[in-house]
Amino acid sequence: MTIPADSPTPLLGLEPEAARTALTEFFAERGERRYRADQVLEWVYPGAQTFDEMTNLTKASREALGRRFTLAPLVPEVVQRSNDGTVKHLWRCPDGEAIESVLIPADDRLTLCLSSQAGCALGCVFCGTGAYGFRRQLTAAEIVAQYRDSVRYAQAHGMGAITNIVFMGMGEPLANPEPVFAALTILNRGFRVGARHITVSTVGIVPGIRELARRPEQVRLAVSLHAPNHKLRLTLVPVEKRYPLPQLMDAIREWVRAKGKRVTFEYTMIQDVNDSPALADELAELVCEFHPLVNLIPMNPIPFVGWRPSPPEVIAQFRSRLERSGRVRARVRSPRGSDIAAACGQLYNQAYEKGLAATARAS
Ligand code: SAH
Ligand code: SF4
Repeated sequence: MTIPADSPTPLLGLEPEAARTALTEFFAERGERRYRADQVLEWVYPGAQTFDEMTNLTKASREALGRRFTLAPLVPEVVQRSNDGTVKHLWRCPDGEAIESVLIPADDRLTLCLSSQAGCALGCVFCGTGAYGFRRQLTAAEIVAQYRDSVRYAQAHGMGAITNIVFMGMGEPLANPEPVFAALTILNRGFRVGARHITVSTVGIVPGIRELARRPEQVRLAVSLHAPNHKLRLTLVPVEKRYPLPQLMDAIREWVRAKGKRVTFEYTMIQDVNDSPALADELAELVCEFHPLVNLIPMNPIPFVGWRPSPPEVIAQFRSRLERSGRVRARVRSPRGSDIAAACGQLYNQAYEKGLAATARAS
């Protein structure tokens, strides 16, 4: 995305210290007092969406702020509510790109699943976002705005407070490292979201995991495995070619050593592809050193891919084989929001699906 040199700075995408510096300079230029910068930030982080809400500033200051900075990188275009209470937003970016995020209520939690890229370049064969392809990187402001605006939506619609954030929407967060790391800092130090309530899910970008190990934030890590050996993983997750399992396991070891935390693994269960008892044993052997939690996700169907989710009894058997060693805990994740295409792997612009269907009909 090219941004004209004189376009307003997206305030939401600056780390809190940088935002304070930019605002202090702005007020100094106008001959206004320094403390105005903090006054603005006291509005920004609880979630102000416009400068007009900042009622303790003069109208002239608010208008000048609006010329230099912007607070609104996303426009909500479609909101869909599932029968199970899941809510999907389709947000329109300033350049016309569309991204999706999902609010998932469960018991006393409300999880926000947000996007880190428009589309994804990594092409995992069971994933709708992968089929959609890569459109562009999201900016830190666009990532953070999904959170800020979802908080507002949840409050206004009786869903309560967002308790958890997972980077499991569109895209591969560690393939967009700088904006994602900035967003983690802004969410944690600006919006005061506890790092332990934020999970970064990765398909296994090794340099990104190592970088995450060095970062100060204590965010959680989930690694999407889907196969316990190189040969099978290569057929499901093309990035296995670039970062094969031994390298991935080394990077996870480094993260675990640095953070002293448990890693979580994600394993999409695809009928007759990766769900045999022998593979469960191999998986247990591969990951048991981490004493991890393994989330088993029945594959959510996507158009144009014939694979089906493993049947419940196969998943149950896979789970008990995994847990046999006593060093792995496994849980089956029930699909949420699949009636509105909000479940894992189903996030992509619906307009794209219509386009694909039309192309398929034409050919
Ligand atoms: N790119 C990151 C995060 C986004 S995908 C990653 O791959 O981890 C979030 C999760 O949804 C991943 O665990 C991914 O493997 C899973 N997923 C993708 N397509 C799916 C599908 N069709 N059914 C079930 N899970 C899927
Ligand atoms: Fe990209 Fe994750 Fe989908 Fe793979 S599963 S294509 S990494 S979004």
